Amino acid sequence: MRTIEHWIGGSASTGSGDRTGDVFDPAEGRPQAHVRLGTTADVDAAVTEARAAFGGWSETSLSARVQVLFRFRELVVQHTDELARLVSLEHGKTLDDAKGEVVRGREVVDFVCGIPQLLKGEFSDQVSGGIDSHSFRQPLGVCAGITPFNFPVMVPMWMHPVAIACGNTFVLKPSERVPGASELVARLYAEAGLPDGVFNIVNGDKEVVDGLLDHHDIDAVSFVGSTPIARYVHERASRTGKRVQALGGAKNHAVVMPDADVDFAADHLVAAGYGSAGQRCMAISAVVAVGPVADALVDKVRERTTGITVGPGCASTSEMGPVVSAASRDRVLGYIDEGEKDGATVVVDGRGIEVDGSEEGFFVGPTLLDHVSTDMSVYTDEIFGPVLVVLRVASLDEALALVNANPYGNGTAVFTSSGEVARSFQRRVQVGMIGINVPIPVPMAYHSFGGWGDSLFGDHHVHGPEGVRFYTRAKVVTTRWPHVSEESLAHLNFPTAH
Ligand code: NAD
Repeated sequence: MRTIEHWIGGSASTGSGDRTGDVFDPAEGRPQAHVRLGTTADVDAAVTEARAAFGGWSETSLSARVQVLFRFRELVVQHTDELARLVSLEHGKTLDDAKGEVVRGREVVDFVCGIPQLLKGEFSDQVSGGIDSHSFRQPLGVCAGITPFNFPVMVPMWMHPVAIACGNTFVLKPSERVPGASELVARLYAEAGLPDGVFNIVNGDKEVVDGLLDHHDIDAVSFVGSTPIARYVHERASRTGKRVQALGGAKNHAVVMPDADVDFAADHLVAAGYGSAGQRCMAISAVVAVGPVADALVDKVRERTTGITVGPGCASTSEMGPVVSAASRDRVLGYIDEGEKDGATVVVDGRGIEVDGSEEGFFVGPTLLDHVSTDMSVYTDEIFGPVLVVLRVASLDEALALVNANPYGNGTAVFTSSGEVARSFQRRVQVGMIGINVPIPVPMAYHSFGGWGDSLFGDHHVHGPEGVRFYTRAKVVTTRWPHVSEESLAHLNFPTAH
């Protein structure tokens, strides 16, 4: 069985430790590879390489940096199928779904191919007599990224192309459950001509994460994962003075108004709830049915849910794959049991599903629970599996109060045919990313992605303009080229414009 190694200083590295972890094929329920689990010494080695590369890379002209990014972009396009296959094999999502994430990740590379435009500073002429001011941004230094299992290509690409385009060097700690695609990304960067040491990978678990958070020579940390770990990363990395953005978990609500097109809403709720087996941070997991729409909506969602073909992600017939691990499967099944015990109506039951030829796979069938209340664990907790819960309320005001009382604030959607409702919803809802008749409103690469509340710790969202700001810091220069006679203007008062 192959072992997925670190990537340090431009080549694969076995590192200093002897621990490895299993990388599973979730459709078969058995390990398909090993991954090296790094040590603090490996973190140190990668940071040393990244720091050594920073001087040269940050001084490389914008035009030369962009040439590398263009070549990298083309290589990602050429290797889309291979990247998607690696994602599907390790994560379990369908091939088409995996291709979608590769494309959405690559779009961040497209965006940063325009980095010269994005890094243009500002200039103010004649801010005072004979004085001009300009501001510009410079890279931070060595940046680290720590990423979750559910988007092995896209989420790291929210980070490293932006950091690198801005002139930083980067150390990635991918999820140890899905490390294969990152190794290929490292090889593509090398083929694109990125200098050794600019992009590094240290595989591993908590030991590597803590090593990155505590390292004195790392300037910024980007994290995406569950809320408890996001909070921990934010606190611990901040303690050593790093800039931190830490994106956490989610419970995304879709509010369906009585004036919505119910067939359209049901189609999109099923896609958004069960795509990727519900393991998307922007998956819809709670449907809030307003007034009389509930019965018809639940009926139509039920019809569509029972028609979903579940199977291995790599099989062309599959619409939904397994969840990522046995522990995930058991957790999701436990929540369904608890929801039923708490009094929810199990409209579609995904427990006990059998997939022919993949009997050992980590499958949970799509599950629909109705008459759920806000005190049930199927509502309060992020289940991160193919479980859609329906809550019934009487009005838009009640729906908004429910959504806004939830501690997460990642994504939300409203289904309506009323512009007035849509406008009111988008202004009043306390959530970072909002869809109007769009259930997975993941911002394009040239906008920034980020939630509110317990879904984000730190000031900056990822990619787009906020990503560029996160990976750079500003300088403001005030300039005067005096004539000899003007020197007499100097005096001891605080300077003001004249
Ligand atoms: P996770 O929090 O378990 O792991 C994320 C990363 O943290 C991994 O690299 C992992 O190795 C590391 N990690 C795990 N436990 C740790 C610990 N105790 N100490 C230090 N590091 C630790 O998340 P996951 O299960 O891989 O991913 C799913 C979660 O990520 C969900 O909660 C999902 O909502 C969230 N997510 C959020 C977004 C977003 O944009 N907000 C995007 C994708 C995923």
